[in-house]
Amino acid sequence: MLADKDRIFTNLYGMHDRTLKGAQARGHWDGTDKLIQKGRDWIIQEMKDSGLRGRGGAGFPTGLKWSFMPKESDGRPAYLVVNADESEPGTCKDREIMRHDPHTLIEGCLIASFAMNAHACYIYIRGEYIREKEALQAAIDEAYDAGLVGPNAAGSGWDFDIYLHHGAGAYICGEETALLESLEGKKGMPRMKPPFPAGAGLYGCPTTVNNVESIAVVPTILRRGGSWFSSFGRANNAGTKLFAISGHVNNPCVVEEAMSISFEELIEKHCGGIRGGWDNLKAVIPGGSSVPCVRGEKMKDAIMDFDYLRNDLQSGLGTAAVIVMDQSTDIIKAIWRLSKFYKHESCGQCTPCREGTGWMMRVMERLVHGEAEVEEIDMLLDVTKQVEGHTICALGDAAAWPIQGLIRNFRDEIEDRIAGKRIAAE
Ligand code: SF4
Repeated sequence: MLADKDRIFTNLYGMHDRTLKGAQARGHWDGTDKLIQKGRDWIIQEMKDSGLRGRGGAGFPTGLKWSFMPKESDGRPAYLVVNADESEPGTCKDREIMRHDPHTLIEGCLIASFAMNAHACYIYIRGEYIREKEALQAAIDEAYDAGLVGPNAAGSGWDFDIYLHHGAGAYICGEETALLESLEGKKGMPRMKPPFPAGAGLYGCPTTVNNVESIAVVPTILRRGGSWFSSFGRANNAGTKLFAISGHVNNPCVVEEAMSISFEELIEKHCGGIRGGWDNLKAVIPGGSSVPCVRGEKMKDAIMDFDYLRNDLQSGLGTAAVIVMDQSTDIIKAIWRLSKFYKHESCGQCTPCREGTGWMMRVMERLVHGEAEVEEIDMLLDVTKQVEGHTICALGDAAAWPIQGLIRNFRDEIEDRIAGKRIAAE
């Protein structure tokens, strides 16, 4: 279990003072100017050495992403944009940072912006996060008053402004290019890539979009060293990570743990076990609603990191939003509900997603009631493959994968329901 001394987020539960005074007492904003004065190359190299992979779901190496930003300005400004649009069902980790430990994020924004030659940072927070926005804005105001952001931020010699933008509640604005469109005042619709944001992002300028947690861990990584962070977890899966565990466990929670912790340890140590015991575990969605579900018996010994969940269980760590379902769950209905969500949130720009999400949801609806032919299961699977990888953004994949996971792991249950309906009708 991760020792308390190795926790980055020391006020995750709001038990302590979240104001600047409290944050400084816990070690934040300590020597920020010295970190900045070590220079861009040092910061980016430390981030690469830390092995941090983006915490927004895709797991792209953060230091490498930063290095894509132009070293010299061609006259255009550069921007850091923080994706705080946390809208993936099951995911609720960034909100704990923003409402209880906001200074970790603000300090991270300053350092990351400096490393990418950006004098301005925008935080795009989801529409439903009203209290989180208030807490974060209060912390930003405090930081301005204390001279930690603004001209000569924290005495570093770097001028830096930070803006908090409140979204209107559309899930698709969590997709980085849709977020940029929305920030520019347009409809939140994903852009075709390339160009990638590092070349032409916000207002056509070089931009990096990072998740809240990815940025909030930066100051502690730099203070303690990239090698400290990379000492947790398996190779290529380094660091500590916020896990958000919901569903049928005795104590649902958000907890910071070492990457590559076993699922069993995570649940036993922090969640008081599975409701009704391990034999009662039916399925787990290990990384937020877009990753495929896994059968309960395969999860007990699972290693909670990017590589194991993808390579060994054909699922993913995603945002580490762990949704636990016990035997009382109607798994077909649960996945149908996700299909309904993705259908609702499709921006409608590309045909496979616009038409496919509705088509898949309607078939799923019939499967919930067993009102289908057995052959339709393979037809549905085939449609998910036609949507997957054929759309502008990843929402198409996100709609396809839960259904693929359901069919891969619970085909017998779907077939039984169809057979049961037939027998009942005879
Ligand atoms: Fe819009 Fe869906 Fe296409 Fe993404 S995949 S751009 S959400 S229609």
